[in-house]
Amino acid sequence: MMKIVRVLDELGQEQIGSLNPDGTVSGLEGDLFGELLPTGKTLSVSKFLAPLVPNSVMAVGLNYRHHAEESGAKIPEYPILFIKTPNTVQNPGDPIILPTFLASDEVDYECELAVIIGKNCKNVRRENALEYVLGYTCANDVSARDWQIKRGGSQWCRGKCFDTFCPLGPAIVTTDEIPDPNRLAIKTILNGKEVQSWNTNDMIFDVPALIEFLSGSTTLAAGTVILTGTPHGVGMAHKPPTWLKAGDTVSIEIESIGTLTNPVIDEA
Ligand code: MG
Repeated sequence: MMKIVRVLDELGQEQIGSLNPDGTVSGLEGDLFGELLPTGKTLSVSKFLAPLVPNSVMAVGLNYRHHAEESGAKIPEYPILFIKTPNTVQNPGDPIILPTFLASDEVDYECELAVIIGKNCKNVRRENALEYVLGYTCANDVSARDWQIKRGGSQWCRGKCFDTFCPLGPAIVTTDEIPDPNRLAIKTILNGKEVQSWNTNDMIFDVPALIEFLSGSTTLAAGTVILTGTPHGVGMAHKPPTWLKAGDTVSIEIESIGTLTNPVIDEA
């Protein structure tokens, strides 16, 4: 039973720890994907980091029924895979940066359950797929809709891969605390107002089905992060649309996992 965090201590050194209910962090040593043992020390935390450095971020689009409907899309026959590059990963509390050089006027939030693969795997069957999961964290699949939809040549990656477009955290909650990842309340709160609020039970392809599909003839290495799609309520679907702007604060909240909060600023 652990909420694993990655932090900077008072000397600015990176440490792994276990987040306690009272907010303190107990030091851990060892390998995130092997054995982690308590050091017996309480860490003095100067900053929370994204809880891991992913070796790959695989993301699935249009994976909630009500969101596929609000997007005017058909229910997909197979999961729709795209990739978010490593530069997109952002720490809890650090800003989502709105692109102004390769400018976007249509940056949107997406609350997502992130699955952290804990063991190398390939050709996994859904029946035992969750054995390969280390835990879960919150993600925001930030998306520049203009680059995703109008100027991406039908590829989503341009609009999904700007710097800071994948906040992750604050903690990896291990699977023993979350026996079923497909019954969790999930929401986005923008400037104090709830804009997405649904449940992971609306996924078209549930977490085991996604792992079976994504590992098919494909090695998923330990440290792969899978973003599992977002429910309805994205800014694009509001009338008129709600786009992120400098000064906003956006929080992703998932039941039993925690809250990931990031301010929004313009690119300098
Ligand atoms: Mg998404």
